[in-house]
Amino acid sequence: MSLDNRPVYTGGCQCGAVRFRIEGALGDASVCHCRMCQKASGNFYLPLVSVRGAKLDWTRGEPKRFRSSNAAWRGFCADCGTPLTFEAPDGIALAIAAFDDPEEIAPTIQWGIEAKLPYVDHIHELPGEDTMADISSSSYLADLVSYQHPDHDTEQWPPEERS
Ligand SMILES: [Zn+2]
Ligand SMILES: [Zn+2]
Repeated sequence: MSLDNRPVYTGGCQCGAVRFRIEGALGDASVCHCRMCQKASGNFYLPLVSVRGAKLDWTRGEPKRFRSSNAAWRGFCADCGTPLTFEAPDGIALAIAAFDDPEEIAPTIQWGIEAKLPYVDHIHELPGEDTMADISSSSYLADLVSYQHPDHDTEQWPPEERS
């Protein structure tokens, strides 16, 4: 919460070169299956939440942008590639998984279902395993050191001991 009790959200890209802060209520949260959102995210669909009614600040760096149509720009981290924004004339939406606490932003609608990939509705039916369940065939997991920016703001990134 901010001083005047407005909700505050933070997030950023995987490498930490780009960080954002949102003050105020988030708008509609959705997933979009359209072919452009598939390509822009390199994924089956793109989860986005509108921030058009809130105050958005880039607190470290800023996204690079690709103009994906005459109406929209797609923002992403130029250093690590994390998809970050969808920017249209009616406002900006941010990628939900880029938030520090994405679990509190649940989508309420699907768009672009004409392009929905045929297996997407069955992912949850697949067998599931923890990351470490694969350790016998991927021994590097035992010594894994993450270089991903943590899920909170930092004074300095990357930390000095690594740079
Ligand atoms: Zn990055
Ligand atoms: Zn889309």
